[in-house]
Amino acid sequence: MKPFGKKEACCGCGACVDVCPKGAIRMARDGEGFDYPVIDRKRCCGCGRCREVCPVRNPAREKSGNLYFGVRAKEPGLRASGSSGGMFSLLAQYVFRRRGVVFGAAYNERMEVLHTQAFDMEGLSRLNRTKYVQSNMEGIYRRIEKYLQEERWVLFCGTPCQAQALLLFLKREYPRLIVADLVCYGVPSPGLWRSFVKDLEGRHGGRMTDFSFRDKRNGDNGHTCSYRIEGVEYVHSLHQDAFCKLYFKNFTLRPSCHSCSFCTVERGSDFTIGDFWGIERVRPDWDDGMGNSLVILHTDRAAQVWEEVKREALWFGCEQQDILQPRLQGPTEAAGGRGVFMMLQRILPFSLLLKLMPGGAGVRAVWRRRRG
Ligand SMILES: Cc1cc2nc3c(=O)[nH]c(=O)nc-3n(C[C@H](O)[C@H](O)[C@H](O)COP(=O)(O)OP(=O)(O)OC[C@H]3O[C@@H](n4cnc5c(N)ncnc54)[C@H](O)[C@@H]3O)c2cc1C
Ligand code: SF4
Ligand code: SF4
Ligand code: SF4
Repeated sequence: MKPFGKKEACCGCGACVDVCPKGAIRMARDGEGFDYPVIDRKRCCGCGRCREVCPVRNPAREKSGNLYFGVRAKEPGLRASGSSGGMFSLLAQYVFRRRGVVFGAAYNERMEVLHTQAFDMEGLSRLNRTKYVQSNMEGIYRRIEKYLQEERWVLFCGTPCQAQALLLFLKREYPRLIVADLVCYGVPSPGLWRSFVKDLEGRHGGRMTDFSFRDKRNGDNGHTCSYRIEGVEYVHSLHQDAFCKLYFKNFTLRPSCHSCSFCTVERGSDFTIGDFWGIERVRPDWDDGMGNSLVILHTDRAAQVWEEVKREALWFGCEQQDILQPRLQGPTEAAGGRGVFMMLQRILPFSLLLKLMPGGAGVRAVWRRRRG
């Protein structure tokens, strides 16, 4: 078994695993808790499909005449169920009305994050909400292709590298496919997430059944976290949450996220959706703490879909400069102490890791000492 190449050159989308006609590729977890493909050379026939579907190798995007909007679902429940303004649910409704299938990221019973499907609004609730953990896409590309071949409508929502991998995997245009990608800060390690969940479960004595990274109950644009263990709910600020602190201090992102070429307004997808940060500057009357979606339309298909979807939304059109935020201009920079942090997390339980690094300062101190 041989690894594929440099870690920065693999976003972990898993498209190469799904596309390989010989079943010669599988994903294996590294010491940082991320999954990478390994290839069984004895099975490989050299067809080259794994290289063709790789979004890091093939990020090519044509410049499109983008349209920019601020959006929120008219229906308060729909808006509250989303992390920003509920644009994902509005697109899902469009597809469900056509008896289609929606793909997005959900938790399984072990609180792992993986892509899965929903057929109605009830099933959609598992897919709603941002999960700040890399999602597993195993088998999803093939499943989507099958639905499209059966002429079903399909909505896919995921990170821009996953969306580009899907387009490369499918190779051809499908008129009933809608691809929505996210503005993307980067994805944290699933292995570290597992340690974090285990730590909380150990502390509270039971199984975790849900974790909201962007709970809106406090009207603070989803800067509250909440989780459930054995039916008891725990709530705290996102800024106090250990996992989120490590994420936003840039210790836990996948290496490829630090050189990501998808941090731009040009994408191959139909829609890009994100949080409309800076709404107070553009439309102060929209700044009510319950979240608004930033929406970019890239394609003619997106424009067609939008004509119907906008009837169920409150919205305004705007200029590119109004929606620009750091992750539409370039990738997140890694924390100075990322390497040391990742080394420590291999050997220490999460609770000890936290004691060592109040707000990341501990890691920086160790790092400085190591450099003399
Ligand atoms: C890892 C990550 C980083 C993000 N970074 C930014 C950012 O820097 N700036 C910004 O403006 N917006 C960012 N977003 C997007 C934003 O948080 C909202 O997800 C987006 O605005 C959609 O919100 P919504 O209200 O339309 O719907 P929601 O119901 O919140 O829909 C969320 C959608 O994202 C999908 N999703 C959730 N978690 C994951 C995951 N781990 N991997 C792939 N897909 C997932 C869900 O399946 C669903 O389709 C990020 C999202 C993720 C997952
Ligand atoms: S070259 Fe073809 S057979 Fe070999 S690993 Fe890649 S996809 Fe599989
Ligand atoms: S296709 Fe995806 S998982 Fe495979 S090497 Fe490329 S980025 Fe990595
Ligand atoms: S930052 Fe880039 S490489 Fe990382 S998950 Fe997002 S799109 Fe993929």
